[in-house]
Amino acid sequence: MNVPPMFAEKKTFLGLSVLSLVILAGGVLLLFWLVWPRLELVGRWATLSVAGLAALFLLTVSGGLFLLFLSAVTERDFLFPRGGKPVTVKVLYPINQMLGFVLGIGKERVGESFVAFNNALVRASRKRLDASRLLVLLPHCLQSSRCRQRVTAGISNCQGCGGCRLAELSALARQAGAAITVATGGTLARRVIADLRPTIILAVACERDLVSGIQDAYPVPVYGILNQRPNGPCRDTTVDMELVARGLSTLLDRPPAWTPAPRP
Ligand code: SF4
Repeated sequence: MNVPPMFAEKKTFLGLSVLSLVILAGGVLLLFWLVWPRLELVGRWATLSVAGLAALFLLTVSGGLFLLFLSAVTERDFLFPRGGKPVTVKVLYPINQMLGFVLGIGKERVGESFVAFNNALVRASRKRLDASRLLVLLPHCLQSSRCRQRVTAGISNCQGCGGCRLAELSALARQAGAAITVATGGTLARRVIADLRPTIILAVACERDLVSGIQDAYPVPVYGILNQRPNGPCRDTTVDMELVARGLSTLLDRPPAWTPAPRP
């Protein structure tokens, strides 16, 4: 069955989130059923009070999740003025990862779907996000393994030979008025974020690093773009420049000013 594009990338995360809600509701009902006889011993008022509290709890959780899903699917801001990032990053992702493990859904698939879900929420809430200090954060594996320039010390060291995507990415970030940096790992990325204090980040990385980056950078919003790995992981990776340009224009709320260069 064909899945509509608005669901396609997020469907794993959405499905697991609905399942966790069903499990939670089942757990609450089971708990209520177990304590019911004792509540009846106390009195009818005790049963009704606990039932009311349980119903209120489930209504609040499912109402919040419904608005979160609606925002992610339609990419409209139903979460104004709060945003659903803390719930997604701190609660839903760990639960979904666990459920995915139990159901035999790969960590990579759950992670990719989480990134797509997170990006949809960033797009939905774009109008109220501050993009005044936009940082483009890149992984070191984007640099050609044959290149000897020390781009981690500063992307200005790139000679722009076109041997990898870094020159184009650097030019694109310059056009967008965004800071750009290449990080060799999570520790360096965290240090860069602490130093530059961006208000929003566009990150390129593999699914695993994007997931941990989105979690580590919280509360700074991260728009994630998966890299492409034609030579296997962590070596001579590349990225779809159109996705980067589109991501930048989304975050900056203006049309992309970029024309593709021949692929290195
Ligand atoms: S564009 Fe050329 S100089 Fe710049 S990092 Fe890539 S290979 Fe090195």
